[in-house]
Amino acid sequence: MAPDGREGTIEVITGVMFSGKSEELLRRVRRALIARRSVQVFKSHLDDRYSGIHAISSHDGRRVEARPVSSSLEIAEHVDPEVEVVAIDEVQFLDVGIVDVANRLADRGIRVIISGTDMDFRGEPFGHIGPLLAVAERIDKLHAICVVCGELATRNQRLIDGRPAPAEGPTIQVGGSESYEARCRRCHEVPTSGDDQIRLIDEVRFQLEG
Ligand code: ADP
Ligand code: ZN
Repeated sequence: MAPDGREGTIEVITGVMFSGKSEELLRRVRRALIARRSVQVFKSHLDDRYSGIHAISSHDGRRVEARPVSSSLEIAEHVDPEVEVVAIDEVQFLDVGIVDVANRLADRGIRVIISGTDMDFRGEPFGHIGPLLAVAERIDKLHAICVVCGELATRNQRLIDGRPAPAEGPTIQVGGSESYEARCRRCHEVPTSGDDQIRLIDEVRFQLEG
């Protein structure tokens, strides 16, 4: 607990890309600024697509810049002794040390707000969001809209030239709407090279059967 008696907490905002995680993180940061809390914002340096947009200002003119970091240690090193709220965006790209760092900050009475996507493009757990969900006091899982069918989207569809990317690709590949879209479980497609072989066999069989 903090010296002033305030209790620290970990809040995780998670879900698919385009579900509004960053918007929600910034909303909470803006409200903390209105409450005159001292706030620091960090984000993974891997995601520099929106650099500039992440400078947050409240109506009374106070501003906070999001500091790009490449490791959880860098966050621990740059946290001000007097800070009351620490927000971390795109946490799925950070190392496992983030769980310990978040816990230590919360133990010191700091409100830790974390956002990150929970699944990679294959639909498998991403990075260290899982353990963070386990230690968090509060979790909000947001949904986007499936661009194929209009239902709630829970999965990150990776695209290459507009077509579903194969499972064999690298887990981390930063991109925006040109290479990702939000889809529901049913519309989510992850072809494997096995699928390609089956497709080839089917085509050959179709030609032979004429
Ligand atoms: P996240 O941080 O979860 O990737 P952002 O906060 O950056 O999401 O962006 C959320 C915004 O993305 C929404 O307010 C909406 O305007 C836009 N958007 C684009 N595609 C979609 C979609 N398929 N479903 C919902 N919102 C979408
Ligand atoms: Zn769908």
